[in-house]
Amino acid sequence: MSGLWYNMQAPEYEQKASKSIIHPFSVKGYGGLTINPYQGCQHRCAYCYATYEWSPEFYDRIYAKSNAPEVLERELASWKGSRINPVMVSSATDAYQPAELRYGLTRRCIQVLQKYNVPYYVFTKSAVIERDLELHAGYSQNCFIVWSVTTCNEGIRRIVEPGTPPAARIFEAIEKFASAGVACGVNVDPIMPLVTDSDDELGAVVDACKNARVRYVFGAMLRLRTDIWDRMKSVLALLGVENGAEQYKKIYGFEEPLSGSYVACDKDYGKQVTCRLGDMVRARGMSSGFPEHVGPREIDRSCTGQKSILNYVAV
Ligand code: SF4
Repeated sequence: MSGLWYNMQAPEYEQKASKSIIHPFSVKGYGGLTINPYQGCQHRCAYCYATYEWSPEFYDRIYAKSNAPEVLERELASWKGSRINPVMVSSATDAYQPAELRYGLTRRCIQVLQKYNVPYYVFTKSAVIERDLELHAGYSQNCFIVWSVTTCNEGIRRIVEPGTPPAARIFEAIEKFASAGVACGVNVDPIMPLVTDSDDELGAVVDACKNARVRYVFGAMLRLRTDIWDRMKSVLALLGVENGAEQYKKIYGFEEPLSGSYVACDKDYGKQVTCRLGDMVRARGMSSGFPEHVGPREIDRSCTGQKSILNYVAV
């Protein structure tokens, strides 16, 4: 297929050591803590915000931070203060992308977070997380698992995020977590104008959430950046959206070339879409907010110095 922005070959993997692993981050005014056991992501989403500036290497070369669990343990053992805010796993990669089956770094980091009583949110687009179902279920009072699902339409998914599993497979995984008592959320993010923002598209995702016993569903409109816009132009062309690029320029209010940082869509357009999503979610008895059970906690350092509990063997 011509016009693709990504390579169809399997990525290369490389291991590297990190000096630090737990970092502050800020998204849309929300500040928190995050860990990223990998750099790069095999899911190849066209709209990926984590690429910062465009480099195909982000999808094609995955770095595994091989000492991430040990560095995380050291940082938590010497954490300043007695309380810690929830940690987001992850903000700039998918911690449960296929590389996790090879390296197991996310599993070992989760074990460290649990050992120190640290609350966490996992954000993923993967079903690989099923491997750690028991681990998360045993910590359900202190964690929240969120799957990002942009579409249930396979024709769209294959173009927009070709390295992710089909939505049906993700919902299968979600149902297992919900049945095990884990709080499950779905983040419909990004919602792409003219691609996934129709009632039919949003309704299909919300219905699938209801069937999988998801309790929290929220979403946000796509933001554009120079590199994201370049990839989205390919998406619009590949999906055959008539006058797609011209319509986007109107919805986002810019002229070529797009420059500067993020561009949000027209306020009224975005509000109308996110309000429709919220109405659909509430009409099905789900919440469009975040759960309250995951908040700041006292770090438990009574385990410091104990033998490591890390027990993942890569396959
Ligand atoms: S899963 Fe997340 S980090 Fe990975 S390519 Fe998609 S948007 Fe980027």
